Amino acid sequence: MAKSQKVFSLIEKKRKISKEIENLQEKCNHSKKSIKSIKEHEASSTFVVRCVCGYCEKIIGIPTTQELNKYLNGR
Ligand SMILES: [Zn+2]
Repeated sequence: MAKSQKVFSLIEKKRKISKEIENLQEKCNHSKKSIKSIKEHEASSTFVVRCVCGYCEKIIGIPTTQELNKYLNGR
């Protein structure tokens, strides 16, 4: 019982945190673009290169070939 209680409270916490991040991303005007290698989705082990906002980490697009080359060469 205690274990499932713990899980429920963690899920609730996670949901609240996600909501908070969402709110921050909504208020952000994404004026700083950066290219990052990120997980395709939370459960995935596949990494993809995306344009994310440098302030709020929101995915704002897929890099162009030019941007991608710049990112890959810059490492
Ligand atoms: Zn942003």
